Amino acid sequence: QILGTVNSTSTAATSAARAFCSSTTPITATLFPGDGIGPEIAESVKKVFTTAGVPINWEEHYVSTEIDPRTQSFLTWESLESVRRNKVGLKGPMATPIGKGHRSLNLTLRKELNLYANVRPCYSLPGYKTRYDDVNLITIRENTEGEYSGLEHQVVRGVVESLKIITRQASLRVAEYAFHYAKTHGRERVSAIHKANIMQKTDGLFLKCCREVAEKYPEITYEEVVIDNCCMMLVKNPALFDVLVMPNLYGDIISDLCAGLVGGLGLTPSCNIGEDGVALAEAVHGSAPDIAGKNLANPTALLLSGVMMLRHLKMNEQAEQIHSAIINTIAEGKYRTADLGGSSTTTDFTKAICDHL
Ligand code: NAD
Repeated sequence: QILGTVNSTSTAATSAARAFCSSTTPITATLFPGDGIGPEIAESVKKVFTTAGVPINWEEHYVSTEIDPRTQSFLTWESLESVRRNKVGLKGPMATPIGKGHRSLNLTLRKELNLYANVRPCYSLPGYKTRYDDVNLITIRENTEGEYSGLEHQVVRGVVESLKIITRQASLRVAEYAFHYAKTHGRERVSAIHKANIMQKTDGLFLKCCREVAEKYPEITYEEVVIDNCCMMLVKNPALFDVLVMPNLYGDIISDLCAGLVGGLGLTPSCNIGEDGVALAEAVHGSAPDIAGKNLANPTALLLSGVMMLRHLKMNEQAEQIHSAIINTIAEGKYRTADLGGSSTTTDFTKAICDHL
């Protein structure tokens, strides 16, 4: 349930799932192994899925070394077409060089595929001790606008300007997603996270939209929490939160904070939901250049993202099987990657998960 995703507009995913249920025809999904540790952890996902007998054919697409004029980025048009066609995919992390001026690959994917909501579950793993044992929350991040609109320029020498865009349409859409998610996943509370005391127009509009949607869901408790206070509350007592919905940049930051509550970025998955029925799952973390190519990366976050993808496809049995194998491997403690205090390589940890299937 925690890892489930909903998409009220997703008829394509539902028909894909129905096709799966009624036949043995494998589903085709797009796979972006990505950069840095991406190919290593994508390899782990392929191995675990194959061992679990998941009927999926991966259509693999790599980041190009040249800019594709049709996407104005290093993502090829063919790779975007693949996701549009398959409606479902799994994405490894993609590096964004700082200050190089080209369009971020992640932003390109989100914009081109209209991936408007990023669902980031974060929960304490049974058998892996952190300061808290009761974290169980879902961050829902608006994924298309805010400070990520790409509208930046130099005003005069020494002065630059970034524009934060908030629209009624995108705010209502993500708020509706959050409340619908809460309702269909047995959640009781939605907290809108904001800084409307300072960003009065932008976050003010975001809150107004959340309030409008909240009125349609009287069974869900609605509250508004200023982002700085939210950070303090999360660190002091994360059990205070259930579903959190927020503008883009806040979601980016808060979800990394949440990852820190349960053991780090190696553990937290996500799924991007698009208006056209597209679901693109990806880990919350980046390409981890500091450990890339060393067989040290923890594949759990990408594996759990794959589990979210399977739930989206209503392949619940396989999702449960893989989820349990990951949890049991970590709980057993014999094989853990370095980020969790162990000394296993990515490959050994992956093999241990396969042995638990
Ligand atoms: P990062 O998430 O890549 O790494 C932060 C820290 O967490 C590093 O110490 C890293 O080793 C560790 N870490 C992350 N994932 C791990 C895993 N699976 N196993 C073990 N340790 C892990 O963040 P960063 O270093 O700020 O970013 C690196 C690059 O990734 C940048 O170019 C950034 O733009 C990009 N990025 C991409 C995405 C995405 O594709 N969705 C998300 C965030 C960052």
